[in-house]
Amino acid sequence: MSDYDSVSADVETEEEIPEDHPRYQDLLTRHRIEAGVEKGITHLQGMHAEGRGSAFDYLLGEETIPSADEAERAAAAQLLLADRPVLSINGNVAALVPGEMAALADAVDADLEVNLFNRTPDRIEAIAEHLREHGADDVKGLEADARIPNLDHERSKVDADGIYAADVVLVPLEDGDRAEALDEMGKTEIVIDLNPLSRSPQVADVPIVDNIIRAVPTITEHARDLADADEATLRAIVEDFDRERALEAAEKRIRSGEL
Ligand code: ATP
Repeated sequence: MSDYDSVSADVETEEEIPEDHPRYQDLLTRHRIEAGVEKGITHLQGMHAEGRGSAFDYLLGEETIPSADEAERAAAAQLLLADRPVLSINGNVAALVPGEMAALADAVDADLEVNLFNRTPDRIEAIAEHLREHGADDVKGLEADARIPNLDHERSKVDADGIYAADVVLVPLEDGDRAEALDEMGKTEIVIDLNPLSRSPQVADVPIVDNIIRAVPTITEHARDLADADEATLRAIVEDFDRERALEAAEKRIRSGEL
């Protein structure tokens, strides 16, 4: 066994993962999910979701493909154009990119809302606290005083002045039922998901097929570049983006990409 093979089982902190390891990003992602489970912010099922994502990322070559970068730019434009943008946070998102989501919220003036598949008051509070430790000012999702129509009771809970009232929502790693229900509410949906065939990216206005650990900082970079752009420029970026082409490009890379 090489030194590299033994890395994932042994590391206690992410600094111990060698940055030149050929599968560095995957090890980092796995380590953050494990730490999230230990800290009580990520559900055990989050590990399965991560495993699925990891397989797709391997086939994508663990890089942001050009169509994903275009989608990330369109996402930044949509968020800057929004009146009430909200970034949805689940247990995997909180474990993987807490500071990066806080930075994006800051760059586009959006709210962060905790929205869980397996919802418990303790986990919601732990995630809100974790986000605050990583620079978030205000975290929504604790009120749960509104419901998304056509979803079962627990998964439908949202804040009336958060996701319920939002015009543009970023829903990374979202389950298909909820993504469909948000779509039916008429929200402009931005989805980050490594599987282009999953229902969530299929219903998204802006599907981003990329690892969330690369996607969120890239959206923030685009948002900072576009901070002074006028409305016509932002609208042109949104209109030029072709969701079908982005999904097809990702599927093509996964099916035929050279590794
Ligand atoms: P559906 O949307 O049809 O319900 P699913 O049941 O596969 O699909 P979930 O298990 O609810 O979806 O969500 C996991 C999704 O998140 C998977 O599609 C997986 O590819 C994706 N995913 C997991 N980890 C990451 C990551 N780090 N970055 C981006 N996407 C990820």
